[in-house]
Amino acid sequence: MPTSNLYDTQSLRERDAAHHWHPFTDTKELGANSRVIVGGEGVWIEDSEGNRILDGMAGLWCTQVGHGRREIADAVYAQMTKLAYYNTFFKTTHPPVLELAEKVASLAPPHMNRVFFTGSGSESNDTVIRMVRRYWDLKGKPHKKTIIARRNGYHGSTVGGASLGGMTPMHGQGDLPIPGIVHIAQPYWFGEGGDLSPAEFGLKAARALEAAIDAFGADRIAAFIAEPVQGAGGVIIPPETYWPEIARICRERDILLVVDEVICGFGRLGEWFGSVHFGVEPDLMPIAKGLSSGYLPIGGVVVSDRVADVVIGEGGEFYHGYTYSGHPAACAAALANLAIIEREKLVDRVRDDIGPYLQARWRALGEHPLVGEARMIGLMGALELVPEKTGRAVRFNAPLGDVGALCRDFAFANGLVMRGVRDSMIISPPLVISHDEADELVARARLTLDATHAELK
Ligand code: PLP
Repeated sequence: MPTSNLYDTQSLRERDAAHHWHPFTDTKELGANSRVIVGGEGVWIEDSEGNRILDGMAGLWCTQVGHGRREIADAVYAQMTKLAYYNTFFKTTHPPVLELAEKVASLAPPHMNRVFFTGSGSESNDTVIRMVRRYWDLKGKPHKKTIIARRNGYHGSTVGGASLGGMTPMHGQGDLPIPGIVHIAQPYWFGEGGDLSPAEFGLKAARALEAAIDAFGADRIAAFIAEPVQGAGGVIIPPETYWPEIARICRERDILLVVDEVICGFGRLGEWFGSVHFGVEPDLMPIAKGLSSGYLPIGGVVVSDRVADVVIGEGGEFYHGYTYSGHPAACAAALANLAIIEREKLVDRVRDDIGPYLQARWRALGEHPLVGEARMIGLMGALELVPEKTGRAVRFNAPLGDVGALCRDFAFANGLVMRGVRDSMIISPPLVISHDEADELVARARLTLDATHAELK
């Protein structure tokens, strides 16, 4: 990692605050305390003041193989010196894009054999909207256009992605969602399950889809989209009854099932795709993040034969594409990243080794007086912070999110990146995290909880 004493942190902060418009940031809060990250290696990042911080969020849920893998940089360098850029429009291709399409198709479930490349998860979800609507037009059902999504889901920040997402604060800025998208309940047992058991609540949440389809009429509903586990919404792990019921409803009502694999894809749940973990067969899978471990921006949509045979088989040219669809250097990064995931058996490791190891230690944090539930699946975890352990519905006597933000700041101070969502804390570390580092993560999380608890007294 670089040596940090070369940095004048305050000056960097001020220059940043003067011109850089940050994503998801209140600009007033910049300047005095923004964090300047200068290096990364494995699960560690380093800030400009020389602090080593355990990256419990794998960047933004993306650095599966950890930071600083020279092999990926070398692959990108080699590709850039040969062909840094060319497009894939108008019957043009190049070796990295065709190899990557082949590779992703080989990792995807057998009924999915086509990949459309994008630059991000948001672009992937915008692409999904166009693909499903085109599909139903070609099937002679032009009224089958509405897409059902979930409250508190996240599918990106473009107009389409944010509309599919169920984040009300985002909808409030820019008159979203666009027409033709409706939202139903999420399978969030801790927050919304009431007196039902998780299994009962899973069925109830899934049947909200059935009710919505029946209210509109199945001849008007094009697709249902959901994350296997809601990530940005707070690591909402659906009860086991949820996904099989969703799959049944989509099948019986002839609704396309879109499973957003942007976070859960590429090993996060101990399978190549989250839908495989839950045993469902999607018609479309938007992907991004772990595809390249974030080393270069790239996303895509993995498409089933059912949809591809219609949209590009019967439909001819699909008027859709991005300048950076199948960018050669990004494809080279993705190929090198997938080679590491395969060689180091990271997917199996999450399922059989480090996943269960960290889950057991993480769940033990549920004993802490500040924690109402400690849940984890694969390498995605959440701690629900509560003022007292008397029941799930008890809230802090403070605006929602304040305790989460306090806890997140203590986590940083303890050298751990955890994200605060409402009053819960979430983690999603790189898949390469070692057993010792997993112990360290939990130890730092515990110290953070202690500090937050002491502050609240
Ligand atoms: N879908 C999901 C499930 C995500 O978590 C995200 C980003 O966090 C996106 C889509 C959007 O991806 P991007 O930020 O690459 O546009």
